[in-house]
Amino acid sequence: MLTVLSALTLASEYFEKKGITSPRTNAEILLANILNCKRLDLYLRFDQPLKETEVELYRQFIARRGKYEPVQYIVGNTEFYGLTIDVNPSVLIPRPETEILVETILNQLKVTVGTKILDIGSGSGNISIALGKNLPDAEITSLDISEEAIKLAQHNANKNNVCNINFVNGSIISNGILSDQQFDIIVSNPPYVSIEEYPELQKEITMYEPVNAVTDNEDGLKFYKKISEFTMDRLVNGGSLFFEIGMGQSTHVSSIMTENGFHEINVVKDYQQIDRIIYGIKK
Ligand code: GLN
Repeated sequence: MLTVLSALTLASEYFEKKGITSPRTNAEILLANILNCKRLDLYLRFDQPLKETEVELYRQFIARRGKYEPVQYIVGNTEFYGLTIDVNPSVLIPRPETEILVETILNQLKVTVGTKILDIGSGSGNISIALGKNLPDAEITSLDISEEAIKLAQHNANKNNVCNINFVNGSIISNGILSDQQFDIIVSNPPYVSIEEYPELQKEITMYEPVNAVTDNEDGLKFYKKISEFTMDRLVNGGSLFFEIGMGQSTHVSSIMTENGFHEINVVKDYQQIDRIIYGIKK
């Protein structure tokens, strides 16, 4: 008979052999999901025997994780800015760094009533929903090229009781999208990994996350250029553009923004002291 403790030990040994980072944490997250409890609660239940159905499900989860499937796709959700966001392979898994993007916008915002915000490439809806939750008087538009992503983002907004988001399935590259609208803030965490760097990423990313959400198939800067251009006639004068950026991109993105008529450009570092967020004001 397998107890919670022996199941955790077996799973983390297996993950360790597979070269998975934080093997024990992974083992705990998966088992806690099956037992419908918090990770730390497992520590109070070490001697509890597992039912046959639980063992079977755990076996399946372990096998999937052993093939490098991200733990968030296996359990079907992740935490972002204190909210539970459901995820599936049609969307990028929200990252903790992106919470700094949300935090920066919330810190910079002076007026919130009727503020119009556009989130370009909204994916699971994490940024829009975190903003919508914290700015109930703002009007948010979430734009994504993927219909499946928009569906999931809509579901996530409902799940988190956020009602001030308008979801639009489309691309900034197609002519005329949102041309009748003006926003106070535009935000994007675009695909910023270059085609050269892409193959070097973790297997979890290259094998499972949507490639179009991770790389622009060029130099990693394509979307900063496109969005900066696109933004010019969709942003009110004095409106702000906020981006998440990749390591080493701040100087390039700053020039792109300056060339496109932005000023007062600021950079915010992440927890590892890497330039991660950049924002500027339209003159
Ligand atoms: N906006 C989503 C996020 O920040 C998706 C971004 C993307 O797919 N590049 O996680």
